[in-house]
Amino acid sequence: MRISKDRLEKYRNLRRIFSEEDYINIQPIQRGGVLTEEAMKAILEFGDGYSVCDLCPPKSARLDMITSPPIKDFYHDLAEFLGMDSARVVTRCREAVFIAFKMLGRAGDYVIIDSNAHYSTYLAAELAGLRIKEVPNSGYPEFKIDLEAYNEKIQEVKKEIGSSPAAIFLTHVDYLYGNLNDAKIVGRIAKDYGIPFILNCAYSAGVMPIDGKEMGADVITCSGHKSWAASAPTGIIAFNKSLEEKIVMRSKIEGDLTKRKFGVKELALLGCTVMGAPLITLMASFPEVVKRVERWDEEVSKARYLVFELEKIEGIKQLGIKPKMHTLIHLESESFYKVSLSHKRKGYFLYEELKERRIVGIQPGLTKHFKFNTYGLSWEQVKYVRDAFFNIAEKYGISHS
Ligand SMILES: *Cc1c(COP(=O)(O)O)cnc(C)c1O
Repeated sequence: MRISKDRLEKYRNLRRIFSEEDYINIQPIQRGGVLTEEAMKAILEFGDGYSVCDLCPPKSARLDMITSPPIKDFYHDLAEFLGMDSARVVTRCREAVFIAFKMLGRAGDYVIIDSNAHYSTYLAAELAGLRIKEVPNSGYPEFKIDLEAYNEKIQEVKKEIGSSPAAIFLTHVDYLYGNLNDAKIVGRIAKDYGIPFILNCAYSAGVMPIDGKEMGADVITCSGHKSWAASAPTGIIAFNKSLEEKIVMRSKIEGDLTKRKFGVKELALLGCTVMGAPLITLMASFPEVVKRVERWDEEVSKARYLVFELEKIEGIKQLGIKPKMHTLIHLESESFYKVSLSHKRKGYFLYEELKERRIVGIQPGLTKHFKFNTYGLSWEQVKYVRDAFFNIAEKYGISHS
């Protein structure tokens, strides 16, 4: 079918709605994915389709075997950076989680997950045919995961089906409250029971130092577009030697007529994953990522500062564990909520007031509970955000000290 010129017009000159130059974007999922200069340049160089495949080695035709650009080296460096034995780049963190679930479990098996896990963790388990058991959290206002309860949940599964869960899974830093979990505790439990431990570092790896060995992780999953200054879609699955044969099992299928076989290809990756620009952005930003994780303490102190300041506004309270150990902040705001009840723009007023002040990223319509992320903001920008909130509070007669 021909598509009319009019209908195609909207695809010309596509522009970003909120550019980094014009707005302070505090959208939680977007702070860690802002590209470096190097990555921006690399995108132009490698924008064409399968742009990294020029020199794919004919005998071991696989993305991780390409040496120019240095993808093979990159995978080794990635693994080392995460304190793991091997790594592969995949399309998204959720794909990494799915691959781990699929390759470690069999249909009907259980996987134990924390109750603050990302929705995609639940879907990954569902698609892999696994059942889940959730580890409880403390509820309002901390929502702290009871890490020792992994023990009970393992026992529960054993009692119920007579065998161990296929894996235990912990979200290192959750997307709801930005709580940082002490992964070592779960790593130790996993080791006691001899069950593989998957640690989801979507919000941690790439912004803070991660040592998988020290935490006792068998698999680490990461999100390039969330936390590694890379374009979507990019993710990382890193794993230890002991699980290599399972996670990156080779293809065994054979054509019934042709006897064709593809024994070089890694099954769960369907051969190759990210074969162009997004992978290159991940690589181009890597030197900066290696450096920036060393500045994590400074990033956390900005988050703590902003929480300390905003809690001076009447009715504002940080949810999740205090003090903040991560830059994702969840606030409860009875006072802004009260304003929304009688405002003609309802809950949208807060978003609109902030936008007028060139701050975006708080979900339109939310006032009672909202999230944002200070990662990578300068101190000047952090103070600007504080002043904007103070200013809006004053405008609506909400006091602050
Ligand atoms: C953002 C997030 C994901 C999803 O990451 P993708 O790379 O988009 O798949 C998974 N888990 C957690 C904890 C997240 O915060």
